[in-house]
Amino acid sequence: MQRLIFPTTALVMLMCITSWSRAAEQRPNIVFIFTDDHCEQALSAYDPSRITTPNLDRIANEGMRFDRCYVTNSICGPSRAVIQTGKYSHLNGFIRNGNRFNGDQQTFPKLLQAEGYQTAVVGKWHLASTPQGYDYYDVLKGQGPYYNPPMITAGENGEPVTRKHTGYTTEIITDKLLGWMKEKRDPAKPFMVMYQHKAPHRNWMPAPKYLNWLDDVTLPEPETMYDDYSGRTQSAGRQTMTMRQHLNPRDLKLQGHGTMNPEQIKVWDAAYGPKNEVFEKSKSGMSEKEILQWKYQRYAKDYLRCVKSVDDGVGEVLDYLDSAGLADNTIVIYSSDQGWYLGEHGWFDKRWMYEESLKTPLLVRWPGHVKPGTTNDDIVSNLDFPETFLDVAGVEIPADMQGKSLVPILEGQTPEDWRTSFYYQYYENPGGHNVARHYGVTNGQHKLIHFYALEGKKIDDWELFDLEEDPNELRSVYGDPAYAEIQKYMKSELGRLRTQYAVSPDDDPGRAKRQKPKQQK
Ligand code: CA
Repeated sequence: MQRLIFPTTALVMLMCITSWSRAAEQRPNIVFIFTDDHCEQALSAYDPSRITTPNLDRIANEGMRFDRCYVTNSICGPSRAVIQTGKYSHLNGFIRNGNRFNGDQQTFPKLLQAEGYQTAVVGKWHLASTPQGYDYYDVLKGQGPYYNPPMITAGENGEPVTRKHTGYTTEIITDKLLGWMKEKRDPAKPFMVMYQHKAPHRNWMPAPKYLNWLDDVTLPEPETMYDDYSGRTQSAGRQTMTMRQHLNPRDLKLQGHGTMNPEQIKVWDAAYGPKNEVFEKSKSGMSEKEILQWKYQRYAKDYLRCVKSVDDGVGEVLDYLDSAGLADNTIVIYSSDQGWYLGEHGWFDKRWMYEESLKTPLLVRWPGHVKPGTTNDDIVSNLDFPETFLDVAGVEIPADMQGKSLVPILEGQTPEDWRTSFYYQYYENPGGHNVARHYGVTNGQHKLIHFYALEGKKIDDWELFDLEEDPNELRSVYGDPAYAEIQKYMKSELGRLRTQYAVSPDDDPGRAKRQKPKQQK
């Protein structure tokens, strides 16, 4: 009997291995490139007025640029948790920075791994718990500094160990990513790698080679830079994220060297010293407006300098995919954890449901599937990313994920039942920059926002915007009789989406104060 079983089992095994390796050959690799706080205003495929990003633009030119990619909760850690799970913050449990991600729950890398994908994450992680579902991880500790970052990886016994590094963080992350692709991965398996930068997050410290780049340029100011917030409810005026008042001397490079070593400090001081001297000498004679203009130029240039290093790294990775013969069977996705105010409304930072921070860049190149040089304005979201990765890999999408695969859209066929409105919710108040808790709905033409808690107290403020008449969202038309029908419709959409996504009705303003993250294991 045993003799009979053995050859049958061996045959079945052989058949499995053969079909599995054939599938492995064909299944696409996934390279997910992710940045922190990178907005469309600083990516030339979207807006060429301030910077040229030739390598990021290559992804757009050879693929698809999405013009309405919205995030569900415009803040760093929560956006990452949405991408791991395909679920809104209230269901994945990571609602604000300072939370700790429960990595025991279902995540897309675990599902890919179970189907034979090799999975890796390199760079910024920012979810406090140790990454699960990855064959390889090498991630920044917490936010991570711009210079000489400690990074956490699995040691020889599999336990996390922290290693020190010398150099510029964006370049180190790129080198590690390339090192993994060239030397550590198993070429017999398809892979999914998350290549995630800290840049261009606050406090925007550029690489040594870009410290003087843009010195001879005057950047254009955003139209809304002198916004006085008078056309909206109290919330817009109560935040603490203005360039005028809330950029600190470290943000402005008037003091501080972060984690730089003496050699790096020397290069840094040689670049900023003379520039700062000019400012210190002339500031007593400058008007308040001129000082704001100086702050904008200083801050925005440093931000763009950080983006420049990201763009360089993306170029190196795209070149490697070409030279290794991987480009044709690899989908490359570029996005950021949310958008950002590069001086619009007088602000830096994110958090709001207003356009600049609600939107995030999304570029996708997938040879043979995405028509090069195309654009799309369907309402898509970071909520859709994990479903898309699974679909690309041919892995079943679990029914409890709340987004949808973008594969049909990438292939030029938007499904007829694709979403036409989008639900947003932000929770981090009390918290950094004092942006009120709010939720809302947008369909791209109109946007309804309900601010419900500020400084630990319940509030009940509503705003409605006509995005076609007022794309900069300077004047709320909530309560305007001319918009009564639209207001009623948007309220019903809001209720419908809150039910669809199982949003709890009682978000208590005193709840979820900032928790200190537990020590990373
Ligand atoms: Ca962020």
